[in-house]
Amino acid sequence: MHELSLIESMLSIIREEKAKHGMDRILRVRVVNGALSGAVSDALAFGWECLTQEGDLQGVALEITDAPLKVVCGACGKPFEPEDKHYMPCPACGEILGHTVTSGKELYIEEIEADIPEDGEPATGV
Ligand SMILES: [Zn+2]
Repeated sequence: MHELSLIESMLSIIREEKAKHGMDRILRVRVVNGALSGAVSDALAFGWECLTQEGDLQGVALEITDAPLKVVCGACGKPFEPEDKHYMPCPACGEILGHTVTSGKELYIEEIEADIPEDGEPATGV
């Protein structure tokens, strides 16, 4: 599964960030998945579940935001959001081919939410 290796590389990035910033415990990771990224959000969620069942990142929540596809018309320059990624007629001039994709190819970690100990001791909640 393609998404599984994507998750694996994400987890290693998260581990690096965790070490670099001295994060105590990671609570949540937010990921942006573009419509053209080639990764299926459901498969990402499933891969995440498989790979965080145990180990140092056990139980960390994954939130996936689906980013819409945005293009700029190759003929008239009008920016628009096509509903279908295989057939993209420009709403202004009707051109179908030659559009430039400005958003939707991306797949990246947007935010890592973590507990950072302020005085080196974990909060006890008292
Ligand atoms: Zn156009």
